[in-house]
Amino acid sequence: MSKNMNKIALVTGSSRGIGAASVLLLAEQGYDVCINYKNNAKAANEVLQQAKAFGTQCIAVQADVAKEAQVIGLFEKIDQQLGAITALVNNAGILLPQSKLENLSAERINSLLTGNVTSYFLCCREAIKRMSTNHAGVGGTIVNVSSAAARTGSPGEYIDYAASKGAIDTLTKGLSVEVAAEEIRVNCVRPGFIKTQMHADGGEPDRVERIKNSIPMQRGGEASEIASAIAWLLSEDASYVTGTFIDVAGGR
Ligand code: NAP
Repeated sequence: MSKNMNKIALVTGSSRGIGAASVLLLAEQGYDVCINYKNNAKAANEVLQQAKAFGTQCIAVQADVAKEAQVIGLFEKIDQQLGAITALVNNAGILLPQSKLENLSAERINSLLTGNVTSYFLCCREAIKRMSTNHAGVGGTIVNVSSAAARTGSPGEYIDYAASKGAIDTLTKGLSVEVAAEEIRVNCVRPGFIKTQMHADGGEPDRVERIKNSIPMQRGGEASEIASAIAWLLSEDASYVTGTFIDVAGGR
């Protein structure tokens, strides 16, 4: 991808947390950005107003990225309003209440995997159709947000969530090689315990506070610290980096 090309990014799940922090950093760096959200239009609009203040083109689009038709519609809206994307941050994810595996239903497991895995595959597919030199694209970069849980397995809490992130690590490895000769880089960031509202969805709003002393750096991470790693992997500074994993987890 030429250094002079317009940089156009989609950050999925960016009405709050790591996604919102990534949108703001990318807008500050001159990217045109699409904010995506599932439910919270008010929060997405607040991120939109903050991102626009950096002077780039920004839009907010509601779409459930676990649903194929909505992903197709999301990319079409970006094509029309910003142009073909050059950067995808696959970030939207869900965490369901803490539970041992013996109590997990098929319905819950499938909803978790659709929300955290199918969504990433679908967005990668639509991004590749626009970025790949095999499809007359100019190349691009993809960053998948996985989790340190892919390494630990989250026993006693969320093995389903951890396994969904293991799948994202495998997706990153395979896809990075599959599209390496098509001018597309695919990398992954694995956050540790980050101070966002996701932990409340998992049933324990103060989880990071409870766990922090077991983290070598003795603290949870900030969403902005994950955004920095994402922005670096997307940037030209990482032009020879693909199939790589950055653990941003305070030493854990
Ligand atoms: P968060 O605060 O819970 O925010 C999740 C965001 O994703 C929200 O903007 C939500 O939008 C959106 N979203 C969820 N499902 C969606 C869907 N199907 N379609 C579109 N948007 C959807 O999460 P976070 O903590 O920032 O986490 C972001 C990513 O980092 C996730 O992939 C998560 O697994 C990963 N991660 C987080 C941590 C951590 O400690 N926080 C650690 C490791 C990895 P609405 O609010 O509009 O529904």
